[in-house]
Amino acid sequence: MQPVTPLRASRLVPQQRQVRVSFEFFPPKTAEMETTLWEAIGRLAPLQPSFVSVTYGAGGSTRERTHATVKRIIAETPLVPAAHLTCVAADRAEVDGVIRSYVAAGVRHIVALRGDPVGGIAERYAPHPRGYQNAADLVAGIKAIADIEVSVSAYPEKHPDSPSVEADIDMLQAKVDAGAGRAITQFFFDNDLYFRYLDRIRARGITIPIVPGILPVQNFKQMRLFAERCGTSVPAWLADRFAGLDADAATRRLIAAAVAAEQVMDLVDRGVTDFHFYTMNRADLVFAICHLLGVRAQEKVA
Ligand code: FAD
Repeated sequence: MQPVTPLRASRLVPQQRQVRVSFEFFPPKTAEMETTLWEAIGRLAPLQPSFVSVTYGAGGSTRERTHATVKRIIAETPLVPAAHLTCVAADRAEVDGVIRSYVAAGVRHIVALRGDPVGGIAERYAPHPRGYQNAADLVAGIKAIADIEVSVSAYPEKHPDSPSVEADIDMLQAKVDAGAGRAITQFFFDNDLYFRYLDRIRARGITIPIVPGILPVQNFKQMRLFAERCGTSVPAWLADRFAGLDADAATRRLIAAAVAAEQVMDLVDRGVTDFHFYTMNRADLVFAICHLLGVRAQEKVA
């Protein structure tokens, strides 16, 4: 059995500590999923996140739905949306059209990504012949169209396509040089990996915020499959915590909350102030973790 680190009382966060959060949602496919998403947004909105981001399905498959979700957020909430955009499998004119339509709808923040090959990540990525070459090229394209905020991805355990961490950091540097103002990390479970990565980035002179992406584990089996595809390691202690709980959803949720709480409290103890949560369009776990972080609905704090 692996040793586990118990929650320490010293990890309690004073309310006045400046912790900022942002939330990621995905555009719903069905009316039922739409209801779930808007329930989650309704519950998390009072926490006043810095922004809420809406993903862009592989190869632009959710283009209209992403746009519709972002437009509704602008129209019906006080939240600041960040629209994701990928450049894979699309020519520049098409991608520029999406950027312009976002800007016309009032979007002032885009999360710029290369995206995965249409045939899946096992396929070798090749840029569209008339498209943006990579995420850095896309960042430059966005900045040429509108002077808006651009965030990009970062990979504490390196992207699977990258031959090395240094090559990965070269790409991050190129994205920063093109105008990216923030990076959001792929999810990870070993905080030491994040800090080691941060040290390497800072040593290279990259100063933008590298916001940790936190995935509360709503479904361990699904998460493990996803982690394999995107190069995130799943520590043995984490697998051990979920072992034997396949048929026990209620206990899995309690474990998920404890694991995520432990992770964010350790990050706070080590100086992290900004967190990006992969919500999977579910509010409860994220709401609870924000509560632990001292992030409260304003009317309840007063
Ligand atoms: P980049 O940062 O451009 O590249 C990642 C790494 O791959 C770099 O280190 C680079 O060196 C290497 N690399 C790039 N191209 C090549 C090449 N041709 N040959 C060799 N190495 C190469 N996907 C979606 O479809 N929609 C989303 O909304 C979405 N949101 C995301 C949000 C976050 C915060 C993160 C971390 C990922 C998200 N993704 C999303 C996944 C992302 O599209 C994939 O990880 C994709 O494979 C890489 O895109 P990128 O912009 O991160 O790549």
